[in-house]
Amino acid sequence: MATWRNWAGNQKASPVSIDAPRSVAELAALVARASEQGQKVKAVGSGHSFTSAAATNGRMIRLENLNGILHVDRATCQVTVGAGTRLSELNTLLDAEGLALANLGDIAYQTVAGAISTSTHGTGKALTGLAGQVVAMKLVNGHGEIIECSQSVNPHIFDVARVSVGALGVITEYTLQAVPSFRLRALEQPMRLDEVLENAHDLASTNDHFEFFWIPHTKWALTKRNNRTEDELQPLPRVKGWIEKTFMENYAFGAVCRIGRARPSLIPRLATALPSSGSREYVDQSFKIFASPRIVRFYEMEHALPVEALVPALREIRAMVDRKGYLLNFPVEVRFTKGDDVPLSTAYGRDSAYIAVHVYKGMECQPFFRDVEDILRAYDARPHWGKMHYREADELSKLYPRWDEFITLRNQLDPQRTFSNAYSDTVFGK
Ligand SMILES: Cc1cc2nc3c(=O)[nH]c(=O)nc-3n(C[C@H](O)[C@H](O)[C@H](O)COP(=O)(O)OP(=O)(O)OC[C@H]3O[C@@H](n4cnc5c(N)ncnc54)[C@H](O)[C@@H]3O)c2cc1C
Repeated sequence: MATWRNWAGNQKASPVSIDAPRSVAELAALVARASEQGQKVKAVGSGHSFTSAAATNGRMIRLENLNGILHVDRATCQVTVGAGTRLSELNTLLDAEGLALANLGDIAYQTVAGAISTSTHGTGKALTGLAGQVVAMKLVNGHGEIIECSQSVNPHIFDVARVSVGALGVITEYTLQAVPSFRLRALEQPMRLDEVLENAHDLASTNDHFEFFWIPHTKWALTKRNNRTEDELQPLPRVKGWIEKTFMENYAFGAVCRIGRARPSLIPRLATALPSSGSREYVDQSFKIFASPRIVRFYEMEHALPVEALVPALREIRAMVDRKGYLLNFPVEVRFTKGDDVPLSTAYGRDSAYIAVHVYKGMECQPFFRDVEDILRAYDARPHWGKMHYREADELSKLYPRWDEFITLRNQLDPQRTFSNAYSDTVFGK
């Protein structure tokens, strides 16, 4: 029996089998058989969720053979892709077609299905998360039936299944709305946190993609502004880029984290080194700017809150960290997205700000995460489905106005709960 572990190493499982079907028909037959025999089936992406969303001791399904671009519609910039395609691969394939995704998160190791299924997002006040870019899908339900859906075919299934955390079926294919490829000018700059908070909404509105990282134990935040440009490429020079992106943000940062883990009392002093990293500006293809390498491993919790709640919520978190004396060696990240119409999207029905807290791998995270969650709960914050949180179905159901539609569809598509696991039992109920 193989052991499966997620990227962060905080979840593991022992699936009875790991299959990588070569066709949708093969997958459908596998699900139908498993369902008849009362076995559990779980699709897994690249294991980048911090929660046990993808963990199973039943049959684990990898979609790596259902990958790549299957069709490009040049007139509409819509592309049909295999659900197991990694975002990094998709970015390169799209670029070769003169296309790109309008927005992405900060890594590209995830599979398309894994990222979309958990409501993965980037930053950009006028842009939705990845699920908002889906225009059609194909999935295998709990009866082993293949279902196509879009706004015109099975529209209700389409609507609800875009973010479904693996609970409605195994998704085999997406059609995504891409855009003509574009360049971004990135400006990365330290600013005083108070100044960022005073101007947070302006900064988010006047930049295509704005985010910031508050460095706990300091008054500083590192800001990132990415704006569309027609300017010529001015990428970070190869060696300088490697030193700044891979060495400083990963190996050197990892060494600082290890020192902090061994001697937590040094963390506040180590933190003061981070904001001095200075400003930098460069121009590159969008996907090269959105996503960076992530080598240092950590645990993360992230919540989406109504955008107007961001500043008071972050001020409360800052005061709580000081009051309780938490020693934090990872920045607190803040991003923005436009509200969308995907029922279980963390940005459903409201423009959102996201607050993400991180703890270096191997350090105690639960007391800090729980304290942050207690603060955010009062702001109607919704936890990221793929990141650590302590919420259960009774509480989550009140945060999503269309929750009951999701449960009804789950009863229809997977009445036997073939796709359930411990995580879905907790967040959706049995
Ligand atoms: C270093 C790091 C950086 C991250 N950055 C961001 C970020 O910038 N923005 C953000 O929003 N999130 C971010 N995340 C979270 C990440 O995007 C999500 O957890 C995402 O779900 C991971 O994708 P995956 O392919 O690894 O899926 P997995 O974690 O393997 O699976 C996630 C869920 O999707 C389901 N699933 C996978 N494939 C299928 C399928 N074919 N059909 C049905 N269900 C399926 C699984 O069953 C599971 O429920 C980050 C995570 C890490 C570790």
